[in-house]
Amino acid sequence: MSDETPISHSHRKLIIAIDGPAGAGKSTVASRLARKLGYANLESGAMYRALALKAIEGDASFDDEAALVQLAHDSRIQLEPTLGGNRTLLDGVDVSERIRERDVTEAASRVSVHPRVRAWMVARQREMGTGGGVVMEGRDIGTKVFPDADLKIFLDADPVVREQRRMEQQKLKGEVLPNLAADLRERDRRDRTRVASPLVAASDAVIIDSTRLSEDQVLEQVEALAREKLGG
Ligand code: C5P
Repeated sequence: MSDETPISHSHRKLIIAIDGPAGAGKSTVASRLARKLGYANLESGAMYRALALKAIEGDASFDDEAALVQLAHDSRIQLEPTLGGNRTLLDGVDVSERIRERDVTEAASRVSVHPRVRAWMVARQREMGTGGGVVMEGRDIGTKVFPDADLKIFLDADPVVREQRRMEQQKLKGEVLPNLAADLRERDRRDRTRVASPLVAASDAVIIDSTRLSEDQVLEQVEALAREKLGG
């Protein structure tokens, strides 16, 4: 069976939550699984990144919760899953590449600590996923956005392996980021220790440690769980 072969003709459309720290392999497994199921792959992190970009462009402080919430209300953040990958639009402009740059990555980690910013994001994310047929990835999808998701995966991996994977990805893009490991550790720390929706596995999530697994092996496991839920 090719990677693109849909696995089910069931009419039931699942909500699948994939959470975990950076570098655990969420994006790859989420997009491949979504393709197989014919579902939309929604990257919730891209929304935090888009807001962070808006804050950078508007010279807003990443610590000013009220200003950030106002910015969010004044923004149009759209996730557009396409066959060639996901696009992120900010006020109608395609910012898909810009939001992956280092300054935005750092800012996204900082704006996402604020409870009212998160509340705004969670409300939008629920609107997008409520009908089902989505694989949504992030940090709080199984705990906050869709606590009743049909399938929750918490994808983790050894921090050193996650750092190596990120370095490989950067190399492929032709970028060299000297502080990548330290940046990743700091983002992790913020995600895990923030008061509002810290990064934790939902009590009913299936925890997959991808440290010694290939992307294909992770996908296989997650696909099997999805098949089970679809009754096939
Ligand atoms: O997943 P990604 O690295 O694109 O997310 C960017 C940042 O947004 C993360 O570092 C994290 O702090 C935040 N985030 C979050 N909750 C989510 C998704 C992302 O706090 N559901």
